[in-house]
Amino acid sequence: MNLLDIRKKLDSKEISVLELTEQYLERISDTNATLNSFITVTAEHARERATHAQAEIDAGQHSALTGIPYAAKDLFCTRGIQTTGASKILKGYIPPYSATAIEKCHDAVLLGKTNMDEFAMGSSTEHSAYGPTKNPYDLERVPGGTSGGSSAAVAAGLVPFAFGTDTGGSIRQPASFCNIVGFKPTYGRISRYGVMPTASSFDTVGVFTQTVADSAFLLHELAGHDPLDATTPDVAVDDYLAAVHGATDLKGVRIGIPKEYFSVEGFDPAIKKKCEAVIALCERLGATIQEISLPNTPYSLAAYYILNPSEVSSNLARYDGMQYGSRAADATTLEEVFVKTREQGFGPEAKRRIMIGTFCLSSGYYDAYYKKAQQVRTLVKQDFEHALQIVDIILAPVSPVLPFKIGERSNDPVEMYLADIFTLPVSLAGIPALSLPIGFVNRLPTSVQFIAPQFQESRLLRVAHVVEQAAALDREHIPLAI
Ligand code: GLN
Repeated sequence: MNLLDIRKKLDSKEISVLELTEQYLERISDTNATLNSFITVTAEHARERATHAQAEIDAGQHSALTGIPYAAKDLFCTRGIQTTGASKILKGYIPPYSATAIEKCHDAVLLGKTNMDEFAMGSSTEHSAYGPTKNPYDLERVPGGTSGGSSAAVAAGLVPFAFGTDTGGSIRQPASFCNIVGFKPTYGRISRYGVMPTASSFDTVGVFTQTVADSAFLLHELAGHDPLDATTPDVAVDDYLAAVHGATDLKGVRIGIPKEYFSVEGFDPAIKKKCEAVIALCERLGATIQEISLPNTPYSLAAYYILNPSEVSSNLARYDGMQYGSRAADATTLEEVFVKTREQGFGPEAKRRIMIGTFCLSSGYYDAYYKKAQQVRTLVKQDFEHALQIVDIILAPVSPVLPFKIGERSNDPVEMYLADIFTLPVSLAGIPALSLPIGFVNRLPTSVQFIAPQFQESRLLRVAHVVEQAAALDREHIPLAI
């Protein structure tokens, strides 16, 4: 069942919140040993919330999210519930407050905290201190990352929706690897308050759902200004569900195809063919297709992997054994507390980024690396601004490759970084994008992404919804491996 189906069934009392919660909890306990999509399952908390939600529904006083089961990436602080960022350094950390996004789901039913790459660095969920998550379509493969636990959970039917964060692709790419919708709104559209930072100028809260309409429904509940997050402007929140409702064609929509994306080395030709079929479908639906150029986007990967580690090295400075999480037991001096706690607590990717970032920010290198990368970021942003004056929406691939085998890339950081080649430009520009499943290649899922101007989520969701409906007719159905 998708989220909107569940809403109807709860409203008509066809099913109770507790029944629904128990069904999901059972499926989670049947699958978690295999999938490892949850770090923490909050069964008792969920039952208590379910009882509360049912009382609200019975009293006719419920809100849009009352009684809806969900999961959140373990990067979102949840009051009274362990939140680890998938790092050993925060094992056992219980936050005293919840993220704003979690507070907005106060009437919904949190079933657990999902697995991820440590502090949201990676592309496969293999960099987790709690073991890798498996792809529900092929258990030998990765679900993508960094929000791989959330994408696997939604794909496997363990929750109707889950929170993720997208800093450089961590919602769009795992959604693509797991055959579900992954929605990254505009930077600042949903509050980041209480979400552990990775690279603060990129970090964006978003959702995984089964359908575009579900994402539209959720954005209306989650978006908006938050006094606790200065990067959330007071831009009007639309009725996104109404925006998608009833839309069936793309007449008058100009869709841009960025030529730089399609000539990338290492782009799987079978995925490219699938993308071309979607472009043809858009044309049949009435859209005008136009080739566009985003000339600076090929430098996105290089710029991102300077800017991201720079911000990471600063953001991770707070984990020193003093205020949060674990502290090295064998330290005898103050300096040893810092050094040993960080040495023992961080995994290899976190350490790599701290070192790269510290290097890029140090005096003498700052201008050559950090400042240069910031200039490239501005050029990439301008590329999108120019292109989105000529077209309404951009269509691009999400991942150059299909879900890869566990272990295949985990020892080669550059190979792992290359997985993000199509998602990073949008992250540099801070604009919204939605990853939409388009079927299977060799029995493995793949997606395209639609990209819109800042705060034009209504347009983005409408186009994606029309394509989703039209593509559903001839989509092949591959069963889950679980
Ligand atoms: N794969 C990218 C990285 O490792 C993006 C991660 C993310 O979006 N959180 O930084």
